[in-house]
Amino acid sequence: MSNLNEAQYRPEDRQTIVCLYCGRAQDVSRRAMTLTCKFCSKSLKLEDITIKNYEARRHIDTCGIVVVEKKGQVNADRILCGGLVARGRIRGTIMSRGPVLVGPEAEVRGDVSAPILAVGAGAVLHGFYRIGVDPDADRAVAPD
Ligand SMILES: [Zn+2]
Repeated sequence: MSNLNEAQYRPEDRQTIVCLYCGRAQDVSRRAMTLTCKFCSKSLKLEDITIKNYEARRHIDTCGIVVVEKKGQVNADRILCGGLVARGRIRGTIMSRGPVLVGPEAEVRGDVSAPILAVGAGAVLHGFYRIGVDPDADRAVAPD
């Protein structure tokens, strides 16, 4: 469990998930690990993903938090996530619905969109950063 999760912890057994693809909110059980969006019918992963070694993937998609540990290294075309904690190395385009936390020894190469960014001193960043912008601003339909 990351600190980010604890900060977001609420005692209810329901949570509100915002679809990574269509941006619409829906309630789901806290115990659910996957969800089929009732608006766009895409399947969503809800669990956090922790990367401890080298991993190359085309896409990483989860509504949970992606954590790249110190020795972790990710190569992905695109990372769509509910939040990101980078302590290792990431290469790929990152689109996060929650905060992106970059540790002091992390290296991130790729464009990043996120509502909040926190970067430790000494982190290496290469890319175009779009921070504090509503990811749905470009879309026609708001969640409500
Ligand atoms: Zn959807």
